[in-house]
Amino acid sequence: MSFVTRFAPSPTGPLHLGHAYSALLAHDMARAAGGQFLLRFEDTDLERSKPEYTAQVIDDLTWLGITWDAEPLMQSDHFETYNQSVEQLIAQGLTYPCRCSRKDIAAALAAPQEGVPHPVYPQICKHRSMTERGPTDALRLHMDRAWDAIAGMDLSFTELGPLNKGTYRLDKTTLTQTVGDIVIGRKDIQTAAYFLASALDDINQGITHVVRGVDLFEFTQVQVLLLALLGHRPPLYYHHKLIRDDTGKRLAKRDDARAISLYRSEGASPKDIREIIGL
Ligand code: GLU
Repeated sequence: MSFVTRFAPSPTGPLHLGHAYSALLAHDMARAAGGQFLLRFEDTDLERSKPEYTAQVIDDLTWLGITWDAEPLMQSDHFETYNQSVEQLIAQGLTYPCRCSRKDIAAALAAPQEGVPHPVYPQICKHRSMTERGPTDALRLHMDRAWDAIAGMDLSFTELGPLNKGTYRLDKTTLTQTVGDIVIGRKDIQTAAYFLASALDDINQGITHVVRGVDLFEFTQVQVLLLALLGHRPPLYYHHKLIRDDTGKRLAKRDDARAISLYRSEGASPKDIREIIGL
């Protein structure tokens, strides 16, 4: 079986140990399988993505001994492709316009949700129809309608990672209550947001195995759903453990203390990095 995987960082900060783990693991798996390793920069957030981070990521990956088998894909070059898919979802009647600010959403939520990268949207704009769409509105996926649209398809995905190994059938509770009405088109950049762009590019890059952190496991359901709505079959998934700091917290971009560049400047070798992260 062929094996094509990728590392898909958002160039919004320096690479840290968690990224190094993800990239090295995927790269090692691809090389062991005689397959391909690809690179994709998820730079659709034009405000936070910076060319200097892209350059630093390339430099750090090269230093770690990672090679990739095609020119890196830059998502900011492909807004047109994502927009076409957003249009398809609009045509299927699965979207609604949303004018909520982050503040509106935070205020409507009873409590902030630990560990969930995007809080479940409290459905404030759900009653709005596409004819009311304003020029600065975001577009959300109407999850209940999306669920109805795939009813009967009996969709599932295969997870190969050791933490959650198995076959997972998409389920309504996870999609409507844990994931919720995600943004698929954003007002600031007029294009698809992360979930859609990333899932589409896994198809466009011919990825057979998605290797990434377990923090994204829950969101695999919505990516498989979006792919199904657009007529694609999902790749296989392998969600790996997260590298945590001394207090057990998952490393984030702001944890510059764990930046690979810092270890490098202190004289660490790529082998040292592999040892620290247990590879
Ligand atoms: N761009 C995402 C991140 O930096 C990764 C997305 C993925 O691997 O599917 O966390």
